[in-house]
Amino acid sequence: MERRFTRIVGKFKGKHPGPTVIAIGGLHGNEPTGIYAMERAFEKLNSLQADFHGEFIGLAGNLKALEMGCRYLDQDLNRIWNRNEITNELIKPDGIAESSEFAEIWQIIRQAAKKRKGEMVFIDLHTTSSESPPFCLIGDTMRNRRFVADFPVPVILGLEEQLEGPLLSYLNELGFISFGFEAGQHSAEISTTNHENMLWMVLEKAGCLKREKIPWFENARSEISAQTQKLQKVFEIRYRHGVVEGNNFIMNPGYSNFQKIRKDEELAWNRMGAVKAKLNGRIFMPLYQPQGDDGFFVIKRIAGFWLGISAILRSLGMWRMLPLLPGVRKDKIHPNTLVLNTRIARFFGREIFHLMGYRKRRALGQMVTYSRRTYDIHPPELP
Ligand SMILES: [Zn+2]
Repeated sequence: MERRFTRIVGKFKGKHPGPTVIAIGGLHGNEPTGIYAMERAFEKLNSLQADFHGEFIGLAGNLKALEMGCRYLDQDLNRIWNRNEITNELIKPDGIAESSEFAEIWQIIRQAAKKRKGEMVFIDLHTTSSESPPFCLIGDTMRNRRFVADFPVPVILGLEEQLEGPLLSYLNELGFISFGFEAGQHSAEISTTNHENMLWMVLEKAGCLKREKIPWFENARSEISAQTQKLQKVFEIRYRHGVVEGNNFIMNPGYSNFQKIRKDEELAWNRMGAVKAKLNGRIFMPLYQPQGDDGFFVIKRIAGFWLGISAILRSLGMWRMLPLLPGVRKDKIHPNTLVLNTRIARFFGREIFHLMGYRKRRALGQMVTYSRRTYDIHPPELP
């Protein structure tokens, strides 16, 4: 715990133009393994002497929290990237402990994006408080789906529906291919290895390095694959149990990530009594640490058939038809947002919106809004 961390873990620029890959570790200060993994990867990259395309930048997240070994000091650094709020308020030096961290990360990423010569890829390295096989979290764009499709890990869609202001959602909105990678339990030895193995797969997939130039590539793949086995599928988040401060939420012991649960099963306790499962599914990211406001999620598998249908509908631009439905209209200011009058449009399940990539849901009285990502199928143009 006594070591110090620097913002830039490493930078590696190839002779050839190509993508900009940015990785960040330790956005949560109690999750340093992503940084250890990047240190190993940069060391190997420097001795590899292979043709490299584009640039790879490794960043450390919450430096102060990393040095103290806690998730955050004043505010969760991965919950303040709400696009509308990225203004002077959070960048003021007299603000919260996370302000300077936020401003520095923001400036580095902005600069890199401005100078890009190709696709931008962002990977956010995390670990979980419970035991877990490694998995990916993505915002539901076709570009994200295609990018992670070959990785031998479970993929979870729709987390941004549930969280306010994670960094990866913000960068997704700016046009990055972006996803989170959860490598395993915070202090597990294997988490660093999983993070490093994933970085090699990302550099290969992005086109920075040819597969045959990474001598340990197949080994990296199979090391991860051995931990995920039957879980190499796509899941979506169906339910979130938020933790209210002062409610004394305690997860029942023994739940591991992806474990199957039944409706009405007692999962946790709080001041009001037992917290029961509202539906069948799998438990996801149960909270076994004092800090954090997501108690647990429930996820369900999405069948390959529906993923295929969704890809076809989107490539045909079928989302443009949705405002023709009764009770559904386009938002006047935000072109990628739909406004539903739930009294009229109550017969359309959220499934139809999910299929078309509308996952971010906000309820305002009897009105509900759904938003989709701007850069679903095509990246933004180069500067
Ligand atoms: Zn985390």
